[in-house]
This record gives sequence, C-alpha cells and structure tokens, in this order.
Amino acid sequence: MIYEKAPAKINLTLDILHKRTDGYHEVEMIMTTIDLSDRLSFEKRGDQKILIESDNRFVPNDKRNLVYQAADLMIRKYELSQGVTIHMDKNIPVAAGLAGGSSDAAATLRGVNRLFELGLTSGELQELGATLGSDVPFCVTGGTALATGRGEKLKPLPALPPCWVVLGKPSVGVSTKEVYGKVNFEQMKHPQTEEAIHALEQQDFYEVCDHLENVLEPITVRMHGEISRIKSRMEQAGGDGVLMSGSGPTVFALSAHQSRAEGIYNSLKGFCSEVYIVRNLR
Ligand code: ATP
Repeated sequence: MIYEKAPAKINLTLDILHKRTDGYHEVEMIMTTIDLSDRLSFEKRGDQKILIESDNRFVPNDKRNLVYQAADLMIRKYELSQGVTIHMDKNIPVAAGLAGGSSDAAATLRGVNRLFELGLTSGELQELGATLGSDVPFCVTGGTALATGRGEKLKPLPALPPCWVVLGKPSVGVSTKEVYGKVNFEQMKHPQTEEAIHALEQQDFYEVCDHLENVLEPITVRMHGEISRIKSRMEQAGGDGVLMSGSGPTVFALSAHQSRAEGIYNSLKGFCSEVYIVRNLR
C-alpha cells in the first residue's frame, strides 16, 4: 500500500485574456499550494478493476470521479495487467475553487506511477494530467507557479513567503463552467500579474497581498452575496490580503502573523459554514 497527499491550491491572481476558438478561455494565473490536503492510498488488485472508496457524499465513486479517470488513463496507456483500489480521505471542500478533484487526479497519476514502478517524470505526468483537466498539471508538482494557456502551461515561481491562510467556505458549491459562462470582457478589472510576480521574486509578502486579484470574483459574488460578507469580515479582522479562490466560492485571507490569523479564524467561526486555518506549502 502506498500513500499520496493531495494538497489544495489557491489563486493569488486569476486573469482571463480571451475566449479561444476551441471554447476554452486563455488564462493567466498564479497558483500556490496550501497545507489542506486529501489523503489517498493505492493498492494493487488481483483483477483489472478500479475501485474507489470514499465516505464523502458529495463525490461520486464511479467513472465521474477524476481519480477513476486518472487511474483508467494510466492503466490503459501503459497496458497494466492489474487494477487498483484507491481509498480517499477527503478534507478539501468539494466544488469550492480549491482544485480538490484536480489534486486528487494528480495524486493518482503520481500514486499509480509509483505503485507500478513506471518511472514517468513529472513532465510526463503533467502531459497526461492536461487531458483530465486544466488544473491537473499544476497539481502534479504544486508549489507556486504561473499557469497560462488553459492552465496547463506552467512556469515555476519563487514560493509565497511563509504565512497563514484562513479559508472561509460559504454553504454553496459553485460550478466552474457556469462561472466561466458569465465572463464579460468589457467590465473586467485585470490583475497586475507582472507586478505580483515581481513581488514574489522580491519575497515581499505585503506587496504580494496588495496584488491579489481574481476576475471571476465579481461574477461569483453576484451569484452568492455571502462571499462579500465573508471578505469584509476577513478584512475587518486584519487579513493582509483577502481574495476569492478560483471560481469560488471559498475566500482566503493571508496573514503574516499567527495571532492575527487566529483572530480572523475566530471571527468567521459560526459565521460561514466551513472555516480552516492552515499554512502555505513551500
Ligand atoms: P477547480 O478549482 O479546479 O475548478 P473545484 O475545487 O471548484 O475545482 P472540485 O472540488 O474539484 O471543484 O469538484 C468539482 C466537481 O468535480 C464536483 O462537482 C465533483 O462532483 C466532481 N469530482 C470528480 N472527482 C472529484 C474528486 N476526486 N474530488 C472532488 N470532486 C470531484
């Protein structure tokens, strides 16, 4: 039996440049992994089946699960003669903008690679991951990176300086497809991505916080007003930078100081349905 950790990501920036002829949006986003993780275990089977075990009622255990799709892809492509049983302990909230499913899929690519001793490189796993979802290639290696294209082209960046991350998730789940469907280029306030990258290069935490921006935030806020109430509360409690992650609805606050982060966490307890306090992963 082998284990893989599947950490969540947050977006420090998320920009959409244009809609492509293939229907995807051309994006430019800075992503970073945080210490809120699902845990997956992998065991070879005597037969050729893929069995997913999870006690999370929001996640399907069949072919719709990205973990199933990732394992199926590896088994077919490398003509493996055995199947795999995958157990998932889900800690990352589902449909939250934290790439939980993508990270599980990436962990499955890594896990199956190790379990069957396939010897594939991260680059090869990222290429396979791109066929499963736009965020999967980033999740193969994690860290901090600039993602372009539809999210699959990656450039590693210096890590976000060590900090605390408080996450507030409203009770609603959000469909990424629905949010992208409402994108309006005329009203868009684009992030200053270059400046944000410069701040990371300088390891200037407060400058990074000043450049947090997500073009999807106003769209999801219009659908779920609770997001702006959580944001205001995080700002009032002293978050150094506050932003919605991905297509939402999870909002995160960054704080350089543990006591401040705990204050933000306490101010959200009972105010929104799920609250987490974690570190960023370097
Ligand atoms: P992203 O930020 O990449 O858009 P997300 O955090 O918003 O992702 P996920 O938690 O990945 O969203 O879930 C999106 C949908 O994918 C859910 O409706 C869920 O049913 C489906 N799904 C498939 N496999 C998984 C998985 N392993 N974990 C969570 N959701 C999964």
